[in-house]
Amino acid sequence: MAENFKKVTEDFECEHCGRQVKGDGYTNHCPKCLYSKHVDNHPGDRASDCEGLMEPIFLDQEHGEYSVTHKCLICGHTKRNKMQKGDDFEAVLGVIQ
Ligand SMILES: [Zn+2]
Ligand SMILES: [Zn+2]
Repeated sequence: MAENFKKVTEDFECEHCGRQVKGDGYTNHCPKCLYSKHVDNHPGDRASDCEGLMEPIFLDQEHGEYSVTHKCLICGHTKRNKMQKGDDFEAVLGVIQ
């Protein structure tokens, strides 16, 4: 069974809460705890080899859309991401307390 296990591009297991996340090509953060992973230098380029966990540190709202800012726990890189449909809003609100 283990030998059959193959990772599909964009699907990942959240390294913070362990949730299996189905990637849709747009999001790379966990909908449950909102942690992300440092894989991009610029959105979508997958050019970073840091791969540090990125903690949600800040939430802001613009034109009715929420964005969450992530900070890499390894290198300190920050990145602003739009919230995705299906993100756990309770977890989002937990970020701002
Ligand atoms: Zn998670
Ligand atoms: Zn990093």
